[in-house]
Amino acid sequence: MSFEKLGLVPELFTTVGELGYTKATPVQKKVIPLVLDGKDVMATAQTGTGKTAAYALPILQLLAKKETKEKTKRAIRALVLVPTRELAAQVGKSIESYGKKLKLQSCAIYGGVKFTPQTKKLERGIDILVATPGRLMEHIKQGNLNLSKVEILVFDESDRILDMGFWEEIVTISQMVPQKRQTLLFSVEQSKSVKRFSELTSIKPINVTINNQGDLAKKVKQTIYVCDQDKKTALLSFMIGSRNWHQVLVFTKTRASADEVGEYLEKSGLKTLILHGDKAHSQRTKALKDFKAGNIRVLVATDIASRGLDIEDLPHVINYELPGDAEDYIHRIGRTGRAGNEGEAISLVCKEEKSVLKEIERLLKYALQVEFFEGYEPKDWIEKEARKHTLRGKIERSQEKRNKTANNVVGMRKKKANDKNAQKKATMKKRKNSKMKVSTQKK
Ligand code: AMP
Repeated sequence: MSFEKLGLVPELFTTVGELGYTKATPVQKKVIPLVLDGKDVMATAQTGTGKTAAYALPILQLLAKKETKEKTKRAIRALVLVPTRELAAQVGKSIESYGKKLKLQSCAIYGGVKFTPQTKKLERGIDILVATPGRLMEHIKQGNLNLSKVEILVFDESDRILDMGFWEEIVTISQMVPQKRQTLLFSVEQSKSVKRFSELTSIKPINVTINNQGDLAKKVKQTIYVCDQDKKTALLSFMIGSRNWHQVLVFTKTRASADEVGEYLEKSGLKTLILHGDKAHSQRTKALKDFKAGNIRVLVATDIASRGLDIEDLPHVINYELPGDAEDYIHRIGRTGRAGNEGEAISLVCKEEKSVLKEIERLLKYALQVEFFEGYEPKDWIEKEARKHTLRGKIERSQEKRNKTANNVVGMRKKKANDKNAQKKATMKKRKNSKMKVSTQKK
């Protein structure tokens, strides 16, 4: 469906057309008309499905309709809350580019960068504010902004906002915005915590669910390579080098592990940068910029990059370690296969990660393809666990089953024969005994 048919004004549908968006994605098709109609929406949609445009385009249209008079200072009329700095920067940029033909002002505020430039922007007047909860609260405490004119409140990746422990901030912010407003909630999973959100914001939203996992599975080829933990770095480096991959995003579970893996890859000759929460904001921005521009071959990152990193053609994502939270797996692999492109997500899984893998499969509702990388097969896990997933395993298992049945049959036959023999012997003994009895009686 075209954006024009969804009811967007020419300033918006021509702009998205220039950005190469020819058709609306499923989440856009469902959400845009609802938001234009003033409805509260709770949408479950995977990152990479075009959800930013799904709320940003109708918000721009609604606000542009009631543009502020030239001389009055702009007030924040739409507030978009996001969990991470990276996502804030990304969403801020998207809103700016979607709204370039409209006379609206937007900006993104997040931590890790200087306060003053943000304060100055806020002073000049903003229509749409994108913010992380922490930095927003800091500005509120300093009296830099007023939320009393907010008409539309958006929680993007609300499940993640809660996972990051921002509940108190959310309660405070929800009390500062007018009760009469439009609320839009986006999350990856419709978890209990998201329900808590809608209760807090006292809305009865229209639910929109996009079949994320199915779509993702179609676009992203997912493979699990089982290997031993102490072989992972060597396998990672060999895989990237031997397959000649030029833009690979590698996820680790911890910052220490990101440093370790990044240094190993750099030493083995692969141009690598590291991205995690201990790095200064300028370093994080530079790492992302260099990676997007193709100046470096590998970016090793913690889950900080699993959201808000938008590179249209990222072909390969490798999970050096599975994430602690199964949902983060979906976010991570969502960094590839974006905007209709195909992608590949590989996970290096050792035996200690078996239970996390099961949790991920439960969330995805299907089993993942398990393979071995020649020369890096794990010592013990192969036989027991991995066979369960592979075709080879299936054949071997059914062979084993047949052997077992055959053995059973042979065993049963033997038993039957033994029983028969024993019975025969017993009858003969009985006969012999009774003969002996008769002869003694005769005597
Ligand atoms: P998001 O889920 O908002 O992070 O968007 C994922 C990617 O899809 C971004 O690179 C968007 O620019 C792109 N995108 C969003 N909507 C469309 C569309 N209708 N057609 C093509 N690309 C899109």
